Amino acid sequence: MSWTDEICVSCGLCCTSLSLVRITEDDLERLRRGYQVTREQARRMVRGDPGEFTILMEKTAACPALSSKGGSYRCQAYEHRPGICREYECYILAFAKEWLKQRGAHQSVDERNPFHSAADEEELARQVRESIQRMRASFLHDCVTHQNGEGFRRPDFMPELIQTLSGAEFAHSFPPAGTQSAASGRPGGHGPTGSEAG
Ligand code: SF4
Ligand code: SF4
Repeated sequence: MSWTDEICVSCGLCCTSLSLVRITEDDLERLRRGYQVTREQARRMVRGDPGEFTILMEKTAACPALSSKGGSYRCQAYEHRPGICREYECYILAFAKEWLKQRGAHQSVDERNPFHSAADEEELARQVRESIQRMRASFLHDCVTHQNGEGFRRPDFMPELIQTLSGAEFAHSFPPAGTQSAASGRPGGHGPTGSEAG
């Protein structure tokens, strides 16, 4: 696993707090076929109406396929995870990968890249890690500060969200217990982690 993947796994922000993850009918069908579950079982991962599904985040304020332990995350639906989970990466990871690409091609790094001044890959990794930590801390701070205020996107599960962002551990399993195939957990994190990237 690359260091960018490791950072994503220990962040897990996208899988634990952003309840806007869009899921399509094709995604549900891939889960259904991949794990040999019924449509109803696959449907338990989402809420909303067809065409407007989002990942269901309640109780633990995390995706029903995610487990959290010791500061890192595992996606239990990794092999057949939704398309957006394969494709999305945050701007911080995108800048880091752009840095690696340009340096790898012996080019100077674009000055608009916030990491352009990093002297080497080690320094880049340190800066990226710090940026991700700041982003998580800032989001948690906003949740705590505004949890009772007006004008802040305030889900019903705000107390759980604060706990989760604070590092609470939980163990979800997907597919649901008792179904035909058991998924082997893979590192979580919303970006294209692991060998099935892209
Ligand atoms: S893609 Fe999401 S989970 Fe991965 S590092 Fe960025 S914010 Fe965190
Ligand atoms: S990567 Fe896995 S745990 Fe994260 S939102 Fe997607 S399915 Fe859920």
